[in-house]
Amino acid sequence: MHTVESVRRSPHAHRVLTGDRPTGPLHLGHYFGTLQNRIRLQDAGVELFLVIADYQVLTDRDVADRPAEHAENLVLDYLAAGVDPQRATVFTHSSVPALNQLLLPFLSLVSVAELGRNPTVKDEIAHSRQSAVSGLMFTYPVHQAADILFCKADLVPVGQDQLPHLETTRTIARRFNDRYRTGLFPEPEALLSTAPLLPGTDGGKMSKSRGNAIALGATEDETARLIRGATTDADRHIGYDPRNRPGVAGLLQLAALCQDRDPHDVAAEIGSGGAARLKATVTEAVNEHLRPLRRRRAELATDRGHLRAVLAAGSERANAVANATLDEVRAAMGSL
Ligand code: ATP
Ligand code: MG
Repeated sequence: MHTVESVRRSPHAHRVLTGDRPTGPLHLGHYFGTLQNRIRLQDAGVELFLVIADYQVLTDRDVADRPAEHAENLVLDYLAAGVDPQRATVFTHSSVPALNQLLLPFLSLVSVAELGRNPTVKDEIAHSRQSAVSGLMFTYPVHQAADILFCKADLVPVGQDQLPHLETTRTIARRFNDRYRTGLFPEPEALLSTAPLLPGTDGGKMSKSRGNAIALGATEDETARLIRGATTDADRHIGYDPRNRPGVAGLLQLAALCQDRDPHDVAAEIGSGGAARLKATVTEAVNEHLRPLRRRRAELATDRGHLRAVLAAGSERANAVANATLDEVRAAMGSL
């Protein structure tokens, strides 16, 4: 059966895991790339696990900057976007020891050559702040397999950069099941949105750590300033041509997503109004679309204790699930 149909018919037969690094606030790339899908799945009745990937912050930098503060702010963004803390399990890597322990048997299931071929890892090495590449950079896709498989998630709503990692997870699930003659792990499926790679204000992948992102929690003035600074071109006639005019196309896509329209229609309306008119249209569309989310976010931000309580409850639930899976893994491997 097709996944969407199966989710509709029996949401409780599925489980979602996905997550974010606590490296900064969530942005429009997260929102249209994965967050909306997470919330749609949750609202359809699928159980949602959200990992705040604090150990994976160290893939591309020496030290994590204010990890606890960033983690709380991710919870804030989740709740503002519609994650229901009564139903969803939100936790950090560092609070769930048994999850991390799965990394060791999983590492034995992949070759060094396979790890070295991962195109997302290569791209991240190119943008890394470190002069040397750490072992964690090469192995974190295997850690992600532990994130997904500890709770036996079968659906993973992600952006396009995560597809190679999902392949690694599927390989690990399959090899573990084959090697230990068990049916313990599902082979999870990636769920892409209609915007699997939203560009940032410089035309490259919008990323928290690349200075090109529009945060969900930005003010309307900040949003206007960031969009004013976006890379476009000198052609006054606005048309949707992602290959030859990536900057203009990215902005058109953003307005179209916010207004649930086709980017060609947005372009036609702007006509020869040039980049200034385009940017004004996009700013208005983004600010309008995010207004209710930002209002909820401002209310939730007054209670930091609540954000920490959500994490504490999520961590307790994730530990129970991870301990049970680790017991099953040990049994399958013949350990005590
Ligand atoms: P960092 O720069 O610190 O790596 P990031 O912006 O890449 O931050 P992540 O925490 O690495 O964010 O990614 C979390 C999730 O959001 C992943 O599923 C990823 O695919 C998705 N995502 C991130 N950026 C985008 C984007 N520009 N378009 C679509 N999806 C995205
Ligand atoms: Mg990233």
